[in-house]
Amino acid sequence: MKHIDEYRNGALARDMAAQIAHNAATGRHYQFMEFCGGHTHAISRYGIEDLLPANVQMVHGPGCPVCVLPAGRIDDAIKLAMRPEVTLCTYADVMRVPASGGATLLRASAAGADIRMVYSTLDALRIAESEPNREIVFLAIGFETTTPPTALAIRAARRQGLRNFSVFCNHVLTPPAIRAILESPPGPNGVEIRVDGFIGPAHVSTVTGTRPYDGLAAEFKKPVVVAGFEPLDVVHAILMLVHQINEDRHDVENQYTRFVTAEGNRIAQQEMAEVFEHRPSFEWRGLGELPLSALRLRTEYAEFDAEYRFGITTIPAADNPACECGTILRGLKKPAECKLFGTLCSPETPMGSCMVSPEGACAAHWTYGRFRDRQGRRQKEGTSF
Ligand code: SF4
Repeated sequence: MKHIDEYRNGALARDMAAQIAHNAATGRHYQFMEFCGGHTHAISRYGIEDLLPANVQMVHGPGCPVCVLPAGRIDDAIKLAMRPEVTLCTYADVMRVPASGGATLLRASAAGADIRMVYSTLDALRIAESEPNREIVFLAIGFETTTPPTALAIRAARRQGLRNFSVFCNHVLTPPAIRAILESPPGPNGVEIRVDGFIGPAHVSTVTGTRPYDGLAAEFKKPVVVAGFEPLDVVHAILMLVHQINEDRHDVENQYTRFVTAEGNRIAQQEMAEVFEHRPSFEWRGLGELPLSALRLRTEYAEFDAEYRFGITTIPAADNPACECGTILRGLKKPAECKLFGTLCSPETPMGSCMVSPEGACAAHWTYGRFRDRQGRRQKEGTSF
């Protein structure tokens, strides 16, 4: 528990927040985006925005893998799972992500599809070993953090001669999403996204290192600070970003030095490169089609590719038109600005993907932030109830 105590020390956080307030007292406004859902969760859970001065604000980014999975891909997963010979293995959160027409994997399971919740790719591999007469399909999602384990499972399946294991691959990449945010067109009513700097991904960067952000920081003149997911990591990263802006710098800095290096994990990178290649284009929920932003299995591994094996062709599907996930994932709106937030949409009845995973901006705000909204409203209205 020693580390958790240290990285969640309230007195140190307040001290650092005072430094942010001192350094940000320059008559300017600072707006930073935390890319990762893990950071979004930490910011909501620990009330980090409450510690910041009014001229330092955070906007949420698209780094929650469950949130950016488009409805059309969930439709594909449901179709796969409904095949009588298939057992679809997936993480719990994905079960509740809305597909088209309000369908979910959870509902498909209730309707008789064989869908099993797993904690890792290796769980799916074990099911394939023990049930050779079933077609075991692993629904793979996630950024560069979860891609190496998928690659390892595919290589293990080949070594073991497993003929009933395949992967429905939805792995996506971080740098193209950051680029998409920076090149994003204005949102509703012509509102433009303004991001002065990024808190860069934590776990992703343990695999990729910090190098992939160098080009983006230089091209768009935006500082990036890679930071851990503990509250002090996040507050420290904000302070580092404020310093960079004040000094007119746009460097890539590493706050998460206890795990991240510039080069990253070379072995994990090699495993990924051995099994996967870039897709020409991939749809992200909220961001649309992004070139070279996702991975697919190389043809050498086609026998483990569920898309190839089951002839999947994704048909894009529209989201619920009242759901604001798209604008929230681009940092243009906050969860409480969605009309459905807390009324028709809650973690019990998610209408959009951002309300599903604890890393989703809407779910995090529902769990930790909605009470603060109420408190702020009461203070404004001068009421005490
Ligand atoms: S509150 Fe629900 S409907 Fe609104 S943006 Fe969030 S997930 Fe979508």
